[in-house]
Amino acid sequence: MSNTTHTATERASDDIKGDEPLSLDELYRESSHHQVNLGAKKIHAKRMPGKFRAFKWKVASLYLFYFIGPFIRWEGGQAILFDIQNRKYHIFGLTLWPQDIWILALALLTFFLSLYVVTAVAGRLFCGTFCWQTVWVDVYTWIEEKMEGSPAQRRALDSAPWDARKLAIKGGKTLIFLLIGVATGVTFTSYFVDVFDLWHRYFSLQGPIEIWVAPLPFIVGTYLGVGIMREQFCFWLCPYARIQGSMQDADTIIPTYDMKRGEPRGRLNKGDCIDCHLCVGVCPTGVDIREGMQEGCIMCALCIDACNSVMKKVNKPAGLIRYASLKEMLGQPVVPLYKRPRVIIYALLIASTLIGIVWGLTHLGTVELNVIHERQPLYVTLSDGSIQNKYTLKIINKGDRPLSIKIALSELPGAVLVDHDAAVHVEPGKVLPLNVIVHVPKALVKKDAMKVEFHILDSATGAFITETESRFIGPG
Ligand code: SF4
Ligand code: SF4
Repeated sequence: MSNTTHTATERASDDIKGDEPLSLDELYRESSHHQVNLGAKKIHAKRMPGKFRAFKWKVASLYLFYFIGPFIRWEGGQAILFDIQNRKYHIFGLTLWPQDIWILALALLTFFLSLYVVTAVAGRLFCGTFCWQTVWVDVYTWIEEKMEGSPAQRRALDSAPWDARKLAIKGGKTLIFLLIGVATGVTFTSYFVDVFDLWHRYFSLQGPIEIWVAPLPFIVGTYLGVGIMREQFCFWLCPYARIQGSMQDADTIIPTYDMKRGEPRGRLNKGDCIDCHLCVGVCPTGVDIREGMQEGCIMCALCIDACNSVMKKVNKPAGLIRYASLKEMLGQPVVPLYKRPRVIIYALLIASTLIGIVWGLTHLGTVELNVIHERQPLYVTLSDGSIQNKYTLKIINKGDRPLSIKIALSELPGAVLVDHDAAVHVEPGKVLPLNVIVHVPKALVKKDAMKVEFHILDSATGAFITETESRFIGPG
């Protein structure tokens, strides 16, 4: 056993040095010790108090905001509401339109880049502490423990014949799991329909089919993915689990068993590991971390808590299993974070996406103007010799008040707007398409494409609201 761990570490060391890979025999010997539970064994992990367990609960409690979120009110409406029907996304007083969706895309990109940087620094920290799958599994297994008892009692119940007691416990548990799935799905739907309106529709059995169908994938997905598959979901279905290995390197700190200190493991007078298997007993994915880094490890660090409690009992220093990098374990110099190219590049990318988001949010106007030049024909020569171009203006009133505007031109000498002196009204939340014609005397059309700017002005005060540039096409 100790040989295997040693070989795994040596292998990693070889990777760093770029030496020859292991022989086939060595590979088989090493892989025979890898622990990959492909679902044949149901994991009933022991729960223990500890620093990382407390941290896990604190981080998981942030998900309460997911459930509370739809009930938060802002300026008389729901603070966070993705109103797909009216194509408006409200976030605490900010209203984003489909045109502004790039800001949400940047926010998503920031999240993924943050995931990369966290993985480069501390491995699957996200998986072990904040991923909704593992958080929900943690809640489900907590409920399971309350209803079925300790891991030994749960295993006994699993193998016991079906009787009234087992039926009542398993049935009650399934019902609670389904109710959590319903709460998860309905909460998700509440981000798209005002939550009070949604509940009213549910209770009065009204509303479109969508509000009944939308929570279903969550109910089914939560029950199957969290209630049944559990850690197997991470192993078989999660794409992030597949790619996270490429984001880590020898400087990444992950929960690691200090093999030099722990081996040879055994009850007395050997290495520090007393071979109590507590680190395996608390692992929610059934991994024995003493066999080296493994695919099933979600890096929840609960084995660190377990082992530290054992070390305390046997009067040995804590940290036999601890967050450490491969370089630290091999006694190589540890590179500080600010000198690691991977971390620097991810941090710079995050900084640029954040700058983009701040710029976007601070430049959100209440009126947007899009100008589309008519293509067929590009221009018309009129009987008096002047050149005519036609445009379609799309005026979007993103505000919550009606708009009364006028259109004006600039940057194009001699340009005249035909029949557009009167004020134009745009209702709140509406897009007004407007055909406009521009004439320019032929003598002033010196090029085949000239710059023209369309302005939107307040019809009452003449104040500038917004502008958009276009081209005036002529014979040149
Ligand atoms: S081996 Fe340790 S860190 Fe990895 S999943 Fe198991 S308990 Fe969590
Ligand atoms: S909990 Fe610590 S002492 Fe016990 S088996 Fe695991 S590594 Fe060894």
